[in-house]
Amino acid sequence: MGLLEGKLDAEPTTTYLMTYNQGKCVANCGFCPQAKTSQSKAELLSRVSWPTFSTSSVIGKIVNSAKTGKTKRVCIQAINYPQVFGDLCGFIQALKAQVSVPVSVSCQPLNAGNLWLLSRAGTDRIGIAIDAATPQLFGKVKGEEAGGPYSWQDEFTLLRTAIGVFGEGNVSTHIIVGLGETEKEVVKIIQKCVDMGVLPALFAFTPVKGTALAAKSKPKLEAYRRVQLARYLIVNALSRFEDMAFNKAGQTTDFGVGKDLLVNAAESGKPFQTSGCPDCNRPFYNEKPGGPLYNYPRNLNPQETAEIKQQLNGSLT
Ligand code: SF4
Repeated sequence: MGLLEGKLDAEPTTTYLMTYNQGKCVANCGFCPQAKTSQSKAELLSRVSWPTFSTSSVIGKIVNSAKTGKTKRVCIQAINYPQVFGDLCGFIQALKAQVSVPVSVSCQPLNAGNLWLLSRAGTDRIGIAIDAATPQLFGKVKGEEAGGPYSWQDEFTLLRTAIGVFGEGNVSTHIIVGLGETEKEVVKIIQKCVDMGVLPALFAFTPVKGTALAAKSKPKLEAYRRVQLARYLIVNALSRFEDMAFNKAGQTTDFGVGKDLLVNAAESGKPFQTSGCPDCNRPFYNEKPGGPLYNYPRNLNPQETAEIKQQLNGSLT
């Protein structure tokens, strides 16, 4: 966008913004630097820092980069604070008055009224992150046990309501792999979301200094690759959770498709690219540019595909 000078290994195809608030989020998600009790730097979300700019300068730059085709989508991450939905709607209306660009909002809407407000302001797609793959983990990392306001039940009610407000195909969720779930549990929830008409996208858990989960490790790359592959097959209606098999430890042992299809899917590299809204590549959100890359922000080269096939060694037969 030209707001800062810097070196880019991969150009973002979406413009990513985060709401600004003095103070942290009212919620307390254990993995999040914005959580109310986190000791992390206030400008962080995941491993990425979000410097502050005035609204007018940001809108001006988006207008230019959308007109030249550099920005294909605007994605706004909202932390929760009392005026957040007013701020979001004001920003989206001001942006849409100047340029026609698809807008996604990633937020915790808390109630149906906020979904309608966002829709009327011009939001095209909404993401409501469940983050955890099971109700128990959800309670621990972002629900009651974590001192947060969210409940598993309410998240699914809001996802269903969001489909009514934004239409099928325009609602996403995110799942963080590596919070303590098994592969089987995450693949099961991926299928549940797809069956509801919600697009599930994946993040790899990223420990951030100062958060409650700072001491936890990243997920094993091989396990993440298997979940990415299973997600790709389910989202593209090539397989289903019920047709897959898992061992006692919950690791995927059969993807429910023939070998040729499985190898072709892996060799396409698509399952291992960033997942999310159309035109989202979110470079280096979970990893340093030097790698290993959990989510590739671009097409993979043949060497990278070969490395992944090795990581999936045994799973592609
Ligand atoms: S609601 Fe979002 S911003 Fe707030 S603590 Fe949870 S993950 Fe972080």
